[in-house]
Amino acid sequence: NSNAEIVEPRLFTLEKDEELRFEVENEPVECQLIEGKAELFGTELRLEQKYTFRKGAKVAVFTFHGCKLKLYGTPEVEYVASETPMTIYLNLANALEGLRVDACKEDKPGPNVMVVGPTDVGKTTFCRILLNYAVRSDRTPIYVDLDLGQGSLTIPGNIGAVVIEKPADIEDSFQITAPVIFHYGHLTQSKNTTLYNIIMKALAEVVERKKNNESSIKYSGTIVNTSGWVQGYGYQSILQAVEHFATNIVLVLDQERLYSELVRDLKSKKEIKVLLIPKSGGVVSRSREFRSEMRDQKIRSYFYGTETKPLYPYSFDIPFAQFTAYKIGSPNLPDSCLPIGMKLTDNSTKLMPIQPSSSILNHIFSISCSTTEQELDKVITTNIYGFIAVTQIHMDRQVVNVLSPQPRPLPKNYIFIMSDVQFVDLE
Ligand code: ATP
Ligand code: MN
Repeated sequence: NSNAEIVEPRLFTLEKDEELRFEVENEPVECQLIEGKAELFGTELRLEQKYTFRKGAKVAVFTFHGCKLKLYGTPEVEYVASETPMTIYLNLANALEGLRVDACKEDKPGPNVMVVGPTDVGKTTFCRILLNYAVRSDRTPIYVDLDLGQGSLTIPGNIGAVVIEKPADIEDSFQITAPVIFHYGHLTQSKNTTLYNIIMKALAEVVERKKNNESSIKYSGTIVNTSGWVQGYGYQSILQAVEHFATNIVLVLDQERLYSELVRDLKSKKEIKVLLIPKSGGVVSRSREFRSEMRDQKIRSYFYGTETKPLYPYSFDIPFAQFTAYKIGSPNLPDSCLPIGMKLTDNSTKLMPIQPSSSILNHIFSISCSTTEQELDKVITTNIYGFIAVTQIHMDRQVVNVLSPQPRPLPKNYIFIMSDVQFVDLE
């Protein structure tokens, strides 16, 4: 039995500007800094502490000055790389810090940065590095994540923003407290482009308000992470996001074509800089299956927490009569169905009431911060509290059974918005 085998820890001696990369397959791997200084995506490792990395983790421990590391356990892959873009990333972080210093002096907003690029170029990791360096300079930047599929702030199908005040956890990345989240309900922007644009704008307005209320946040600026879909509407939505989030610096990871398209389309806006940034050779491509597994895991940990920080969700019934639920948008009729001369109405942001039936089983519902007492058309531009998952429907008793991080009873005036995203509760 290989699990019972005691594998000797392996010692790695890294020279300056090198990184140890490893990928965890099934069994956890522990990493310990023995000597010198090292950091993981911008967070410094504590000397002697053993950090545990679990299934699926793809890790790089970098050192600017040289260090010694020990690895316990057997990763799927492990090697030392001496070619990394970390110096470029650090220089960029320093340049952004310079802009924040200027912002402070002149009482104006700090840099609004947007990170774009195709899938698997290290966008999220790069944002983590930039945010960590900002926090290490005592800044409190806002992190916006527009990625619907592999977002870092909330469960899939939604976008959000949060103020970052502490460096990311070595093992679990950022501890997200009190994020502002907007409901979208699908995994790709193309499903409802009108809605996506509206919620980006609404989110940008919240970000703007936070900055106006707190000058340290204003000077710290924003880091906006985006999805890897950079063609068609994906590209259009990047241009829309640049506009909404008053972006002054667009960092394009890896792809020259995207870079030149953006240079071309933003040429008339002199205040926007577009820079091409190299990706790290360490970034690992992820398969469709892996991505889908990560999405499930993200939802599961929303309800159940993680191995190290478990949560205990509640399961209870909501009577049909108190389950005020909507879905945003109804399919538009094709032109050919309409009488000649009649104009097509855009139903993409219309709230359609949902009657409980088997078709909502396993669906995630967002809980709107807008309540039944308020105007219905405010719902889409209002942020959400959190989520429930529909686990059972009892037509006989006229109740839906839900999984919820909050205990019962949920207030009667709540509005639930249905998501396409599903979660099968196997616990
Ligand atoms: P997506 O298109 O899904 O949003 P992305 O461009 O945001 O992807 P990341 O999520 O940042 O890419 O990186 C992909 C994977 O590569 C992650 O698991 C990350 O931990 C890993 N990774 C990033 N940089 C390195 C590195 N230097 N060495 C090893 N692994 C890395
Ligand atoms: Mn990403």
